[in-house]
Amino acid sequence: MKIFNTESMQLEEFKPITPGKVSMYVCGPTVYNLIHIGNARPMIVFDTVRRYFEYKGYQVNYVSNFTDVDDKIIKEAQEEGVSSEEISERYIKECRKDMEDLNIEPATVNPQATHEIQGMIDMIRTLIDKGYAYVVDDGTVYFEVDKDPNYGVLSHRNLDDLQSGFRQIQVTGQDQKRSPLDFVLWKPKKEGEPYWESPWCEGRPGWHIECSVMSRRYLGETIDIHAGGEDLVFPHHENEIAQSECANGKEFVHYWMHNAFLNIDNHKMSKSLGNFLTVRDVNSHYDPQVLRYLMLSAHYRSPLNFSADLMEAAKASYGRMVNAMTNLDFHIANAKTEGLTEAEQKTLEDAAACRKEFEAAMDDDFNTADAISAVFDLVKVINTNVNEDSSLVFMNTLKKEFMELTDVLGLIVERQSAASEDEAARIEEKIRERQEARKNKNFAKADQIRDELKAEGIVLEDTREGVKWHRE
Ligand code: AMP
Ligand code: ZN
Repeated sequence: MKIFNTESMQLEEFKPITPGKVSMYVCGPTVYNLIHIGNARPMIVFDTVRRYFEYKGYQVNYVSNFTDVDDKIIKEAQEEGVSSEEISERYIKECRKDMEDLNIEPATVNPQATHEIQGMIDMIRTLIDKGYAYVVDDGTVYFEVDKDPNYGVLSHRNLDDLQSGFRQIQVTGQDQKRSPLDFVLWKPKKEGEPYWESPWCEGRPGWHIECSVMSRRYLGETIDIHAGGEDLVFPHHENEIAQSECANGKEFVHYWMHNAFLNIDNHKMSKSLGNFLTVRDVNSHYDPQVLRYLMLSAHYRSPLNFSADLMEAAKASYGRMVNAMTNLDFHIANAKTEGLTEAEQKTLEDAAACRKEFEAAMDDDFNTADAISAVFDLVKVINTNVNEDSSLVFMNTLKKEFMELTDVLGLIVERQSAASEDEAARIEEKIRERQEARKNKNFAKADQIRDELKAEGIVLEDTREGVKWHRE
């Protein structure tokens, strides 16, 4: 399995720290509002990465946090006249609902920053003791970037360039930072803000420290994979590396994975730009599976430009998968023969080739776009080979193949099966009507029925055993 590592900027063979296990940390949302579909991209992408590891037999320890202390949460709380906790608890609940709708497997743990303050204080203390951090007069604690010779490894920036980029701030800087790049580990409270006691001042943590602490607490000092959207590479993940490696004296992460943006009109979708659609919004107009499908239809490292047309195309494509399953389920329910024929045996080899193609795509840095093509190859195998004469073994084997692959993608193709039985009954009824028309020599009507079904993608076939149907 190959993974593109942001740090080396190369595809690397995946080697787990512990054989058969994967430890994964995915930076989660700041909970002050309903999540937008840009936030859903990493959730869906890395859930799919997790599912593929599980498909390969790995046991995955998957940790994803909720950032529940932040300026934006405090601002929202002040505007509504409620506590920050009320805001974050409300939107954590809403976010969990969206994740459930998108069929995202529950994380092993979803730690919350405000429940981990002691761990953050401990790590900050270690950083001060080891000389990587310093306290200024008002009690703010800064990480001293100059003390970390590796700073910049992930974002491939060197300190001199970074310093000159920040010169402006240094000139006008009014704080006591030793360098403009130094970042906050702990800061004093402001009036009306949530705060905690600490050895330095009553205050709250900076943003970056929470992920270093939660990753270590739930996954250990060194983990396999750390992931998030590409906007997190700098400074968030760069700062996490600095904190964790300086505090622990160990390598922090083996593979850094970052998804590209979900854009709208070629601009990053974000709350601050106001160009966002919430997951809730989109899912009120479409089956949530369509959004999931859309996210996986592009490689995770390619930008994806959201549009209504793209959503419609995703709906149609996903619909073809559902139709294939509907068709298969109908024939399974009505199977007349048990044993596998020679021709069926050959078809199962074609189906196995689709699985190989699927795995090759996923092994190549989780190329879900190609993996979806492989699923469509399987759809074609199913649609062209399954009919009333198909044996039960044959169809159940195809179904198993289909389910296992779509499961990796987290696409639930089978849930409409109750509706699908009605659908099949309706088609059978149409066929009966057509037979009736033919018997009465009303060929115009018979042709009309056939054409109507054809328009729905249902093809009729006259055979010696009667009329059979399949989907195109
Ligand atoms: P935030 O709530 O802004 O901290 O974001 C939570 C996660 O969503 C992070 O991994 C971000 O990188 C990611 N994210 C935010 N906006 C987008 C976007 N437009 N496209 C892709 N990922 C995004
Ligand atoms: Zn993080």
